[in-house]
Amino acid sequence: MAHLVQPKPDTARTLADVLSRETREGELYDVLPDGRLRCYACGHCCPLPEGAVGVCKVRFNEGGRLRVPWGYVGGVQCDPVEKKPFFHAYPGSLAYSFGMLGCDLHCGYCQNWVTSQAIRDPRAVAPPLSAAPGDLVRDALRHRARLIVSTYNEPLITSEWAVAVFKEAKAAGLTTGFVSNGNGTPQVLEYLRPWLDLYKVDLKSFDDRHYRELGGRLQPILDTIRRLHEMDFWLEIVTLLIPGFNDSTDELSRLTEFVASVSVDIPWHVTAFHGDYKMTGPETTTASMLRAAAEIGRRAGLRYVYAGNLPGQVGELEHTRCASCGETLIERRGYVVRAYRVTAAGRCPSCDSPIPGRWTAT
Ligand code: SF4
Repeated sequence: MAHLVQPKPDTARTLADVLSRETREGELYDVLPDGRLRCYACGHCCPLPEGAVGVCKVRFNEGGRLRVPWGYVGGVQCDPVEKKPFFHAYPGSLAYSFGMLGCDLHCGYCQNWVTSQAIRDPRAVAPPLSAAPGDLVRDALRHRARLIVSTYNEPLITSEWAVAVFKEAKAAGLTTGFVSNGNGTPQVLEYLRPWLDLYKVDLKSFDDRHYRELGGRLQPILDTIRRLHEMDFWLEIVTLLIPGFNDSTDELSRLTEFVASVSVDIPWHVTAFHGDYKMTGPETTTASMLRAAAEIGRRAGLRYVYAGNLPGQVGELEHTRCASCGETLIERRGYVVRAYRVTAAGRCPSCDSPIPGRWTAT
């Protein structure tokens, strides 16, 4: 990360003060007839009078213009693409991962809370590192990454910065991705479409009351999932299975039936919870809970169901099998690909059925 420069500590200012300088004018907003600004970067669609800050705490109205995060990262790391998780996009590749700070939700169990809640929660200390888009892309190439992914905080709220990075990344031949809560708008998806290839949505629940506890609403997320599929982003969906929160048979049936109604070919990952941040009460998810949830997904008609976070404990639910003939196409243990048999044309070598996803052609 040699090109990323950490700003000098500025103890006299809060993190919010520091970040309010790391901005530029955004592109995802309109001026309303009454002079307020309407931000379209996420499903909150905040109306912002002069001086107001959005729910995300990082976009704000200054002098009748929307200021948005720019020129820094909250963290960078090179991970296997399986960790995002994408299982049907360039398996075994490295994904150079960057994030900014802040989020439009405030989930009590967030596993990235140090970056996502950095402005809301004084215990979250994640000082920003100055960066230019070209620095990040050069760093990704130096690490031999195949992909570059905006993650760690909610990428929708920093979409202008992501697009600046992705424009340079695509010129350098990289595939681009978002790891997102899916609380999008039609405007932000149109804005992202030319520059963004892969989209992971964290579908946390199928109960609007649960989403309101987390600071959002269910409907904008369902609308975004449908749009992502219609707009031909490569889409995978993850549900962190939290005992007592979202694991009832009824809720999981409705959730997976919804995903199947969009497309039975969307991979659905059900992953194990462990206590984190403010949610330490629920028990840890077991392998048998994951298997039971996966069975509900299969019954709903989903053809690619995976169980995650418990390597070696969930049998074939880590592997990809051909939905037509049952041939095992990709064997995994955790994030490690142990065998890969998808053809260069993205087909099953046994029955020649196409396998949905983005595959390495050579
Ligand atoms: S990104 Fe979302 S929360 Fe932030 S100002 Fe825009 S609409 Fe509001």
